[in-house]
Amino acid sequence: MSITQVGVIGAGTMGNGIAQACAVSGIKVVMVDISDAAVQKGVATVSGSLDRLIKKEKLTAEAKAAAMALIQGSTDYADLVGCQLVIEAATENEGLKVKILQQLDTLLPADTIVATNTSSISITKLAAVTKRADRFIGMHFFNPVPMMALVEIIRGLQTSDATHDAIKALAVALGKTPITVKNAPGFVVNRVLIPMINEAFFVLAEGTASAEDIDAGMKLGCNQPIGPLALADMIGLDVCLAVMDVYMKEFNDSKYRPCPLLKEMVAAGWLGRKTGRGVYVY
Ligand code: NAD
Repeated sequence: MSITQVGVIGAGTMGNGIAQACAVSGIKVVMVDISDAAVQKGVATVSGSLDRLIKKEKLTAEAKAAAMALIQGSTDYADLVGCQLVIEAATENEGLKVKILQQLDTLLPADTIVATNTSSISITKLAAVTKRADRFIGMHFFNPVPMMALVEIIRGLQTSDATHDAIKALAVALGKTPITVKNAPGFVVNRVLIPMINEAFFVLAEGTASAEDIDAGMKLGCNQPIGPLALADMIGLDVCLAVMDVYMKEFNDSKYRPCPLLKEMVAAGWLGRKTGRGVYVY
């Protein structure tokens, strides 16, 4: 199946990034959110992001105009009907996503593929609430979408080969590098990343090294662009803790126990950059 028109549900951080990636690749986009203000904010974010690319001489004004002309903002799900693929990128809330997916089932033709950008909800479980489980898949973009090369393509137990192949081809058409992942908590990247961050908190708590030295060690010894503790401050310590809690519950394996220091900092409200203090003070 060739995908020439994509629907995006949610015009927030990820939704507008996905819309931008599609539009600059010549794919028509219908971006839907719940209010005109949210839609307009999403469209304005794409416009600002493309302006920055023009400034850096990575895009021409004509290419920007062509991309913007391909993006239709809407608050009406009925506008999604002509899309071959709809990517759900609304707020991370299982009940909300189930409601959206069921609404899409009543509207979209049977052969439309539906993908979700969820970071943490089971693809197999979400597929099971739809009437198109074989045409349902995870398409996990990374933030900021226009900059990040990776897309994790997550196959639920029910996902068909044809659906997987169509989504893989689309990811390549968007200039991304896809990896194929079987549904499992955290998929691949967060499954490896968040326990590594948790381990850095254990090393800090044990007094093995200072925060600065742990981060310098991982940057210089593993060629990471940012140390794990500084990265935790960017992600949010509360988010890191919530993810470890999910792994602990889902795998029931003590290797995923959250570090007590991480829990203590979250309890103190030291959540990272967003609260002005995490491992480091901002
Ligand atoms: P966000 O809060 O920036 O945007 C979510 C948008 O969804 C909001 O504009 C909201 O108004 C809209 N929305 C809520 N209910 C809706 C509905 N019924 N119909 C249409 N739109 C609706 O959130 P985000 O960071 O863009 O995250 C979106 C999804 O992407 C989540 O599932 C999240 O887990 C996932 N994700 C986020 C990141 C990240 O770094 N932010 C990375 C990968 C995946």
